[in-house]
Amino acid sequence: MALIVQKYGGTSVGNVERIQNVANKVAKAVAAGDQVVVTVSAMSGETNRLIALAEEMQDQPNKREMDTLLSTGEQVTIALLSMALQQKGVDAISYTGWQVPIRTNAVHSKARIEEIDGEKIHQQLNQGKVVVVAGFQGVTAEGDITTLGRGGSDTTAVALAAALDADECQIYTDVDGVYTTDPRVEPKAKRLDVITYDEMLELASLGAKVLQIRSVEFASKYKVPLRVLSSLQEGGGTLITSEENLAKDSKMEKPLISGIAFSRDEAKLMILGVPDKPGVAYQILEPISNANIDVDLIIQNQGVDGTTDFTFTVHRNDCKQAFEILQQTAEKLGAREVLADDTIVKVSMVGVGMKSHSGIASTMFKTLADHNINIQMIGTTEIKISVVIDEEHLEEAVQALHSAFELDV
Ligand code: ASP
Ligand code: MG
Repeated sequence: MALIVQKYGGTSVGNVERIQNVANKVAKAVAAGDQVVVTVSAMSGETNRLIALAEEMQDQPNKREMDTLLSTGEQVTIALLSMALQQKGVDAISYTGWQVPIRTNAVHSKARIEEIDGEKIHQQLNQGKVVVVAGFQGVTAEGDITTLGRGGSDTTAVALAAALDADECQIYTDVDGVYTTDPRVEPKAKRLDVITYDEMLELASLGAKVLQIRSVEFASKYKVPLRVLSSLQEGGGTLITSEENLAKDSKMEKPLISGIAFSRDEAKLMILGVPDKPGVAYQILEPISNANIDVDLIIQNQGVDGTTDFTFTVHRNDCKQAFEILQQTAEKLGAREVLADDTIVKVSMVGVGMKSHSGIASTMFKTLADHNINIQMIGTTEIKISVVIDEEHLEEAVQALHSAFELDV
């Protein structure tokens, strides 16, 4: 007998029929002999509807009251799902976050879970019940209701799985798993059977649409096997697990490259002819970070004649502000010129196989060269190689790399 935590998102519980469909799936797991804890989101659109109501009431809705309001969405679905289960003859009980309790800190609208008391849930499971727990919500030590940030039900599910020492946390959603890349850009993209936590985190730009990324960090920290699968069709989905677990299972051959992520939200800034001496990188980047602008890739050229060029990327939305800050810096440092380019994109190849194989970067660069795509910047981590290219080449680059690394076979 396994203990499974299942999570169903807003679309999966979007109306009465769909909730009944979820009840069928839960009933199946129960019939198979598993103990099941279910976490649900609010019905799709409900959280947005509540936010809109709040905004009609107050310019900057009070955060404590906002959390009290938003937590109602999930209270509706836990009760309805419990009823649907009972109607099918499956014994079930619903709990809100504060009934469990799921203790969080007091940072309203993006609270962090501090502790979950699994006692009550275990008791109910041992009496043969399915326990349906509201996602996205918790309670502070003072008894105030909190919420965990948009998409937070994923994190609730993983945190419950960790606290209850569950065998697997299954996230049911409207896609059937994690893909090698975005199928809208490469229709030959394939569903991955298995991927490591670290790869999933690096593929966040793809995965963020599938899973709240914080839930993956949580799963990784507590080693909770996580599975993403469709609530609408059958299939094994994608298992997200640790590298050690993967290595243990010899049947699962590790691919070199798991996926290709990309981001269109990039901009490149250059400051040319800055003095080549200690402290310059700091003088350039400190005002940028003081403005709360995140810097991603950074390149400093080899100095020539006592000056050098410095290039970095930021989120496209921050480009204008970063450009203005950089102009002031240029004046202070006596730099020659400041340039900004917001027509670039970042393409990243991700795979734990990189740790033990060489030649991946050169294959990547050759593939892009064969397509006459110019690489403007390069960045690497242990399991990722990113390049910055012109946005007009994005689709071609992703498709070329996808086939060069045989992700479509
Ligand atoms: N209902 C919340 C939201 O829409 C939490 C969730 O769905 O995970 O963000
Ligand atoms: Mg979601």
